[in-house]
Amino acid sequence: ESLLEVKNLKKYYPINKGFFNKTQGFIKAVDDISFSVNKGETFGLVGESGCGKSTTGRSLLRLIEPTAGEIWFEGQDITKLSMEEMRRRRREMQIVFQDPFSSLDPRNTVQRILEEPMIVHGVGDAKQRRAAVERLADVVGLAKAHLQRYPHQFSGGQRQRIGIARALALQPKLIIADEPVSALDVSIQSQVINLMQDLQQEFGLTYIFIAHDLSVVKHICDRVAVMYLGRIVEVTDKHKLYDE
Ligand code: ADP
Ligand code: ADP
Repeated sequence: ESLLEVKNLKKYYPINKGFFNKTQGFIKAVDDISFSVNKGETFGLVGESGCGKSTTGRSLLRLIEPTAGEIWFEGQDITKLSMEEMRRRRREMQIVFQDPFSSLDPRNTVQRILEEPMIVHGVGDAKQRRAAVERLADVVGLAKAHLQRYPHQFSGGQRQRIGIARALALQPKLIIADEPVSALDVSIQSQVINLMQDLQQEFGLTYIFIAHDLSVVKHICDRVAVMYLGRIVEVTDKHKLYDE
């Protein structure tokens, strides 16, 4: 059963030049791609830098607006939603970024960072949220005592745990992980990947896992789509990946 169906998705960025900032043409970052992701699946999106992976990931949540195409999430085409409705829908679709440092507000404690999505979406009262934050810390292996610290006081691997905990705060169905381990030491990469796999089991999550390097996703993906110059050139399933 599919959770997400992407049909003919396109994202063209205008190239603006000159005094009048006139559009000179378009970069076809995502150029007519279609794929579907099943419930509970880990779907890999791989390809060299610049092939359109991040643009795809962000377009799926409408963090950037697609130029064309349909995105069916649980039977609803979310490209048709107003921004207000889309913001509400994002409870169920979260993103984890490559560099959690740039997306974790340096002025906030981890407690506040993890609580924020719940405040924005009006989840629970202060006491319930505090309890939820402690559970989240527990789930990703952060010490409760560290909740009063700030992002810069953590290592890269711990920051990614915070990024993952934040993405989980609203109990989403889909997590788009955009190169979540690329910025981490190799020794830490497998810890974070193992954590993500455990969480998937525990919470029945569906993942879209973006990576530039096939070796990172090979072991954890059920299927992998390979992108090249804005297009999906191949979708391979797990058994075939292991043969190669
Ligand atoms: P990937 O994630 O695979 O590295 P991206 O989606 O980041 O690829 O980029 C795809 C293409 O779109 C690249 O040519 C990139 O330079 C271009 N691009 C990405 N973001 C923007 C933007 N905000 N404005 C203009 N071009 C962009
Ligand atoms: P980057 O530094 O990788 O470019 P940003 O921190 O600029 O990423 O975040 C891009 C957008 O995504 C921002 O509008 C931000 O509010 C939003 N965002 C950040 N974290 C999440 C999340 N977990 N789920 C959904 N949206 C998020």
